[in-house]
Amino acid sequence: MDAIIIGAGPAGLTAAYELLLKSQIKPWVFEASADMGGISKTVNYKGNRIDIGGHRFFSKSDRVMNWWTEILPIEDTPEGHSFPLKYRGQSRDLPHEMRLADPRQTDQVMLVRSRLSRIYYLRSFFNYPVKLELQTIRNLGLWRMLRIGLSYLRARLFPLPEKTLEDFYINRFGRELYGTFFRDYTEKVWGVPCSHIAPDWGAQRVKGLSITRTLLHAVRQLWKKPGGDLAQKGVETSLIEYFLYPKFGPGQMWDTVAEIVQSKGGVVQTQHKVVRLHAAGQRIEEVSVQCLSSGEIRRVKADYVFSTMPVNELVAALEGVEVPAEVAELAKGLPFRDFITVGLLMKKLRICDGSNARSQGVADNWIYIQEPDVKVGRLQIFNNWSPYMVQDPDTVWIGLEYFVSEGDELWTKADSAMAELGIQELAKIGIIHPEDVLDSTVLRMKKTYPAYFGTYNQFDRIRAFLDGFENLFLVGRNGMHRYNNQDHSMLTAMVAVENIVSGRTDKSNIWDVNVEQDYHEEK
Ligand SMILES: Cc1cc2nc3c(=O)[nH]c(=O)nc-3n(C[C@H](O)[C@H](O)[C@H](O)COP(=O)(O)OP(=O)(O)OC[C@H]3O[C@@H](n4cnc5c(N)ncnc54)[C@H](O)[C@@H]3O)c2cc1C
Repeated sequence: MDAIIIGAGPAGLTAAYELLLKSQIKPWVFEASADMGGISKTVNYKGNRIDIGGHRFFSKSDRVMNWWTEILPIEDTPEGHSFPLKYRGQSRDLPHEMRLADPRQTDQVMLVRSRLSRIYYLRSFFNYPVKLELQTIRNLGLWRMLRIGLSYLRARLFPLPEKTLEDFYINRFGRELYGTFFRDYTEKVWGVPCSHIAPDWGAQRVKGLSITRTLLHAVRQLWKKPGGDLAQKGVETSLIEYFLYPKFGPGQMWDTVAEIVQSKGGVVQTQHKVVRLHAAGQRIEEVSVQCLSSGEIRRVKADYVFSTMPVNELVAALEGVEVPAEVAELAKGLPFRDFITVGLLMKKLRICDGSNARSQGVADNWIYIQEPDVKVGRLQIFNNWSPYMVQDPDTVWIGLEYFVSEGDELWTKADSAMAELGIQELAKIGIIHPEDVLDSTVLRMKKTYPAYFGTYNQFDRIRAFLDGFENLFLVGRNGMHRYNNQDHSMLTAMVAVENIVSGRTDKSNIWDVNVEQDYHEEK
């Protein structure tokens, strides 16, 4: 029996690996691009590597943590592994019986990295998540703090009916704090004002945040002694979290998995795009695959189909079945946000706060750019993800991230103009001197964010129609139009394989993965 897997991202490759492990079904993975890993790939530009968005390897799921560490062993650190990995306040121990490796001796290894990310706003750094502390008060000024306090009180006393994300934020944080830390950044990410986004998004994103808890935390901090290595370097220890990270970025994990899949008898073909799915009754019988280098299209038999392609494209590719007009329209209306990374190779950065002694000057993995006078949304410092991402350790390799929509003004800019824009913007907000730029590159990535507006609120109807095909399994991120991280994407694939092996036909357990929605990647 054969399973056609559309896409060699984390979900597709996990499905292939699990099928080989748990069944007699042969996986055929067709990948439209030239790379493994989908959004989680690593792009190599002249020996300097780009991770699109920054991918922490951390999961609440033991199954995923064990899976990752079976593929790539963990760095054997001089300190040992007495510290727990932490992510968004969730703590977990490293898997037992894990394999260890020395990154100086081998490339097949995941590093244990500390995480720091801060907000850059009013040309100053704010700890992330924002804390009520002296530095925050100093950066914002007493007058603004007073306005924040008063508008918070007002919001608590006279809450708005919650029709939009804007109402949601204002009710929880007050209009002033919303305007300071939420409005501009959220609009940069989604390209639409918060007043156009459904409030559910806020419920998922800021569920754990509360002003009362922030105030209590601030009071507790007054009694806390400073400590820890990074604290001595000026970084608040409570902000330090650890995650795993392949030596050469996330794509290394998926390159390795693809090699294993092929060594075990699976097929992985890049530059092969699935262009049609041929249905008969409640089954997908065949798919048409186009080889993008020759243009040739061939039909391949499918006993099972795992799809990680965007749901709107999947619906449009169905043949041999009448797609209800309503489903076709809803699928067309599913929105996405796209992504541009401008890679800049720098002699050094202008910002330097003592948190990192090396040339990059700061220890942040990434920095949220909250400044409203520039379009750049986030800044990655790849040296701080893994020093092996950078060819010359005396240079600083950074990625400027722009949230865009395919075809918009930024998307269609020439690469040179886009790089120039990035340089000018970072210079304007005081992060670099343009004369320190050594090289640049521009990377565009489509459909990085399946968005929760447009027709999304009627997604259930699309899902019900597609779930009706008994041998079709929607998995992953765009595959389910859901804000899934790598681990969620992988788990959906694992559950789908288990369903096939156990003969379970109901697919609700695949959709149940990540419904608690409490630790998607951060924005
Ligand atoms: C900015 C950002 C930051 C992130 N940070 C983290 C993080 O810190 N930790 C984390 O775990 N996750 C993170 N994620 C999420 C992670 O990138 C995704 O969960 C993961 O890549 C989704 O895997 P996937 O296989 O479902 O889809 P994708 O990665 O999108 O892969 C799908 C693949 O399918 C291929 N494809 C599409 N259509 C076709 C077709 N018709 N035929 C053949 N191939 C096709 C595509 O080319 C692609 O390679 C982040 C994402 C973003 C955008």
